[in-house]
Amino acid sequence: MELYRDFGINEIYLHTETSPIEAASAQGSVEMDQLEQLRVAELGVCTRCKLHKGRKTIVFGEGNPNAELMLVGEAPGGDEDVQGRPFVGRAGQLLMQMIKAIQFERNDVYIANILKCRPPGNRPPEPDEVKTCSPFLWKQISIIRPKVVLALGTFAAQTLIGTKSPITFLRNRVYEMPFARVIATYHPSFLLRSPQKKPEAWEDLKLVKKTLTE
Ligand code: URA
Repeated sequence: MELYRDFGINEIYLHTETSPIEAASAQGSVEMDQLEQLRVAELGVCTRCKLHKGRKTIVFGEGNPNAELMLVGEAPGGDEDVQGRPFVGRAGQLLMQMIKAIQFERNDVYIANILKCRPPGNRPPEPDEVKTCSPFLWKQISIIRPKVVLALGTFAAQTLIGTKSPITFLRNRVYEMPFARVIATYHPSFLLRSPQKKPEAWEDLKLVKKTLTE
């Protein structure tokens, strides 16, 4: 360090392995830059709602900034809160199996949540939290412009489609929203508890594949 300081160099950047996201940025993806601008300059170290008090990290979302398919869950859970990445726990493992079944890898899609901070004890999001946080998700969607947004579970489906209808009614249909086509399916955490519902989720995934190829 002393040697560097003698040369007037005060900061050293350590080289780490390039992540797919950094690689996309290096390739000059305009969308990647816009997402980074949104994350760093607009969202920042957010204290807009009460969830900031209990969170460990902000889970902004990650993936392919040019994704045709975007996955939207409810809110980070414990694993996500620690790692700062969406769907990295058991539900995330199942979600990756689900998308693999329709020939997608994690790096192909973009993954985000309605809320960017973990609610205490994984309780459902509260209206003031959704009101404060969801504009950032809408901006992410408007930057990525996916063809299809797959809403995972009741909460994401109701928020994205703008309704209070139950997931049993919302799933397996295509909603033509101004920002994208939305398809809803069961949340992977629910499928872990109720594996007998997996065949219905498979129907929803086939609808996603079909809608993407139309
Ligand atoms: N459940 C969600 O809704 N989102 C995550 O990121 C993880 C679990």
